[in-house]
Amino acid sequence: MFTLPPLPYADNALEPVISANTISFHHGKHHKTYVDNLNNLVKGTPFEGATLEKIVTDTAGKADQAALFNNAAQIWNHTFYWHSLKPHGGGKPTGKLAQMIDASFGGYDEFRKQLSATTVSQFGSGWGWLVADHGALKVVKTANAEVPFTKGQKPLLTIDVWEHAYYLDHQNKRAAYVDAVIDRLLNWDFAAANLG
Ligand code: MN
Repeated sequence: MFTLPPLPYADNALEPVISANTISFHHGKHHKTYVDNLNNLVKGTPFEGATLEKIVTDTAGKADQAALFNNAAQIWNHTFYWHSLKPHGGGKPTGKLAQMIDASFGGYDEFRKQLSATTVSQFGSGWGWLVADHGALKVVKTANAEVPFTKGQKPLLTIDVWEHAYYLDHQNKRAAYVDAVIDRLLNWDFAAANLG
């Protein structure tokens, strides 16, 4: 059985960028529904007892397994998202990440511009990501439940741009939400741990 992972902080810890009200729906309803759906979907299938990563990897791109993929990937994406954020986060990374950002983007300012523009421009529901890909860092976006690791890219950070992530707090102003997340909430310690 899959379970809803607890938040790594209090539900009001990301205010005012992300309110406790948004978190209560996003974690307590949306994320939990993906968990409940997947538990129902795997019953009696070879995926019963499999890890989330195995279900995501094995069902990616298979039209007849889209429900399994979507729910498993959305559990994975949301858990990764909660850890991509922290109270009093944001700002510039240090150490190896800072060096790789300079090498891959020509500096933090250009990286920040690309992360914001790429994430804001995702058409419809999806995700903006910082990933490691063959020794370089890249900014990518994915639609709906898609995840970079099925394409060989290692996720370091993500920003959810499904409307449920920001509409209660920012309404249609997706860019205001994305920029505030980048500047005030990104968890660079998590990114550094993912980079390894
Ligand atoms: Mn979401």
